[in-house]
Amino acid sequence: MAGNEIAPASNFIRNIIDEDNRTGKWGGRVVTRFPPEPNGYLHIGHAKSICINFGLAAEYGGRCHMRFDDTNPSKEEIEYIDSILENVRWLGFDWGEHLYYASDYFDRLYEFAVRLIKEGKAYVCDLSPEQTREYRGTLTEPGRESPYRNRSVEENLDLFERMRRGEFKDGERVLRARIDMSSPNLNMRDPTIYRIKHVAHHRTGDKWCIYPMYDFTHCISDSIERITHSICTLEFEDNRALYDWVLDQLGVYHPQQIEFARLNLEYMVMSKRILLRLVQDGHVSGWDDPRMPTIVGLRRRGYTSESIRLFAERIGVGKRESWIEMGVLEKALRDDLNTKVKRVMGVLKPLRLVIDNFPEDRVEEFEAPYFPDDPSRMGHRKVPFSKVLYIERNDFMEDPPKKFFRLAPGREVRLRWAYFVKCERVVKDEKTGEIIEIHCTYDPETRGGGAPDGRKVKGTIHWVSAAHAVEAEVRLYDPLFKEPRPEDYREALNTDSLEVVQARLEPGLGGVEPGSRFQFERLGYFIADIKDSRPEKPVFNRIVTLRDTWAKIVAKGQGGRS
Ligand code: ATP
Ligand code: MG
Repeated sequence: MAGNEIAPASNFIRNIIDEDNRTGKWGGRVVTRFPPEPNGYLHIGHAKSICINFGLAAEYGGRCHMRFDDTNPSKEEIEYIDSILENVRWLGFDWGEHLYYASDYFDRLYEFAVRLIKEGKAYVCDLSPEQTREYRGTLTEPGRESPYRNRSVEENLDLFERMRRGEFKDGERVLRARIDMSSPNLNMRDPTIYRIKHVAHHRTGDKWCIYPMYDFTHCISDSIERITHSICTLEFEDNRALYDWVLDQLGVYHPQQIEFARLNLEYMVMSKRILLRLVQDGHVSGWDDPRMPTIVGLRRRGYTSESIRLFAERIGVGKRESWIEMGVLEKALRDDLNTKVKRVMGVLKPLRLVIDNFPEDRVEEFEAPYFPDDPSRMGHRKVPFSKVLYIERNDFMEDPPKKFFRLAPGREVRLRWAYFVKCERVVKDEKTGEIIEIHCTYDPETRGGGAPDGRKVKGTIHWVSAAHAVEAEVRLYDPLFKEPRPEDYREALNTDSLEVVQARLEPGLGGVEPGSRFQFERLGYFIADIKDSRPEKPVFNRIVTLRDTWAKIVAKGQGGRS
């Protein structure tokens, strides 16, 4: 069931580290790294990887390097680097002085490539990209050897040097590792390790027009930095053979690559490519749209870094691909906010309630605790009460079903912290029939919410005093996707995922600082938007409802969650 505690996943990585420490494999050192490519914003999946890498390092008294895997200049932007660093820090982690860029290793990577050539383990290949693909073979058929595979070391050295000097066009030649064209592992069929790209790099400028490939760069970067445990996601399992091959051929320090299952979250997508499309096609307002699974989006939505770390700890680390229910993420969020956030009253969809027997100009004040479960904890505030109030539209029904315990003609409810009121009549718009306001009487004997004659009411509803209320725009969110595991993201897109309402909030919320979080009683947790909210004109995002609503989505038939 979504939202319930889950058993901690077995942490096979901790077991590996414990064993290494027992045997003394790394001399007790634990050095991990988080190696993003600066080609997009970080998302909740990256957060899992960050928590694992930085978390394990901290746990074992080791360290975690922050390293940008910046080998593809055409796709990378500095904007992303700044955002990534900021996000990792926000999540609560610190790389100290260990900030690295793969591009800082370009000289050494080049030297290593030359060494492979000299030892007959790499060659310059002139096949076109199409030919290369064709020669590679398939999962069921071995590949064929390139006609350039047996070039002499001298020729290879000369051609590679000329590649570097810029004598050839993009794609004209590549440097390939000379491994095994019949290997069952396609990664080992003479993979490309350098390609020509006449593109300036944001850090090395025009110095290079050849750039090393990921597989060649990554293992050597790990080796240079003396990483112990190189933790990556499962799709790199088949790349491990190449990781090991390169380091073995070069005879250098050799970290251990360990793969874990990536995070998949239901009703979300993690692909940078699709997230970029959502932004570019205007389905969201930007990378930091509060519906996005990006860290900047989650932050703006109101997630705390503690809740994300709690989530990462709860889902654990495993080797098996799985989908995590949104309820698990939201449960971690509620568990964290519950202990930190003040309870206040706000009405999202206001309906006027007039108390006929309450004096016109009288204003009463009620002392209400910010944290009713333990009033000593967050203090109190005074809430004004007057003749005209707003209540939630859906707390009133003219013709209610049996189980409806809120307000209806002739029924009595408790107004939170205040009085019992009884609905006497309903005023409707003559043309549309829409209910405009309801008239009630209050019982002065019930001040504080209890009746001296012992009579009970079944419902307690929230309210704000109309004359004192603060107006605020409130943004209510539904998931971006209608299907739990979107296949075609365009078809799965929920075009109705944002609802904007003009709410009325208790007066204490006037002047709130952007980023302040509250629980609006009965409605959920809310945050004053860090971008659009102004103290004089608040804008709130609903962070999350108070209870798990995912079960309802299934009931509405929007998707079968398993
Ligand atoms: P792409 O392959 O499109 O560039 P990526 O998400 O793999 O995207 P990277 O910048 O290479 O992007 O990721 C940095 C690190 O985050 C990698 O170690 C990667 O394994 C890890 N990572 C990425 N997505 C997830 C995920 N969904 N769950 C866990 N870890 C992830
Ligand atoms: Mg990647």
